[in-house]
Amino acid sequence: MPVGDKIKKDIPLAPFTTFKIGGPARFFIEVKEKEELAEAIEWAKKNDEKIYFLGGGSNVLINDDGLPGLVIRLSNREVANLNPRFHCGAGASLAYTISLTRGAGLSGLEWGFGIPLATLGGCVRGNAGAFGMETGDYVETVEVYNIKKNKFEMFSHKECNFSYRSSIFKENPELIVWGVTLKLKPASAEEINSLIENNLKKRDTGQPKLPSAGSVFKNLFFDDILKVNPALAEFIKEQDATKGGKVGAGFLIDQRGLKGKTIGGAKISLEHANFIVNTGRATSKDVLDLINFIKEEIKLRFKVDLEEEIVIMK
Ligand SMILES: Cc1cc2nc3c(=O)[nH]c(=O)nc-3n(C[C@H](O)[C@H](O)[C@H](O)COP(=O)(O)OP(=O)(O)OC[C@H]3O[C@@H](n4cnc5c(N)ncnc54)[C@H](O)[C@@H]3O)c2cc1C
Repeated sequence: MPVGDKIKKDIPLAPFTTFKIGGPARFFIEVKEKEELAEAIEWAKKNDEKIYFLGGGSNVLINDDGLPGLVIRLSNREVANLNPRFHCGAGASLAYTISLTRGAGLSGLEWGFGIPLATLGGCVRGNAGAFGMETGDYVETVEVYNIKKNKFEMFSHKECNFSYRSSIFKENPELIVWGVTLKLKPASAEEINSLIENNLKKRDTGQPKLPSAGSVFKNLFFDDILKVNPALAEFIKEQDATKGGKVGAGFLIDQRGLKGKTIGGAKISLEHANFIVNTGRATSKDVLDLINFIKEEIKLRFKVDLEEEIVIMK
């Protein structure tokens, strides 16, 4: 079937996000095969339509008016166990992959246990991680589709340029992650289970249950705070509030007393100040207004700039 026949019109996007917010895609396609991806991109270029990519939708805020272009949802979900390697399609669910690596006695993805809907492609792009572990730590190679060159390419671990919540793929949006080979660490069931249980406990007690997109802002580097606000840096030291050289954005938002602040249906979570939750009828505008309010308050009070971790799609 020609790709044009597979493209649907006016598809509501909110159900494809963990925030449950966002209007329709003007055009929408789920791609499972390499050829489909290349053809869908070619179709969008020919028809002069903007191209958007979606994985599990667990890190995005989609505009209330929807997205005026072609939304390509990466749905190549295959996962192959080549112990100690795992080869995963970009659309493979992180949760499903963790269940398989856990069963295979391989450690490396436990940080992600309990995150709803995330895909491996999204995790590689943003170098997602938690509790001192990051996706990039276990990435051996990544296969991407280069939109500018119209071809698939392989990236070695080194070429991925992983850093805190970033990678070469995030810096260069023309590089679309198609697949990843992870090389994981053999570990005992006790070690893996204990990591998973500890992390899950932290998520259960410290994170909200209402719809969200995870942490809204990136954490800050202590050294950057020290440069702009030594008094704040001193206070952070006294409070013992650094982890791995970083200070939680949530710590500052909490110190500013903003937990519970609500605009429309969007609310700063009482469980974790770096989460904004959708209390039922939040619009994208409610969330954006709350984001801007937080940034202004934090700048005014602490002289530091918060930077979004979530991706605002419009
Ligand atoms: C309750 C909750 C807890 C969370 N906890 C954490 C956490 O502990 N640590 C953490 O790092 N994150 C966390 N997140 C955020 C999120 O799960 C991760 O950022 C995840 O990696 C996003 O993957 P995704 O497939 O959902 O990406 P999406 O949300 O679908 O997309 C995010 C961005 O990546 C782009 N993208 C998606 N797939 C690809 C691809 N294959 N190639 C190129 N670009 C792509 C999209 O265009 C978009 O710009 C949490 C989210 C929730 C809801």
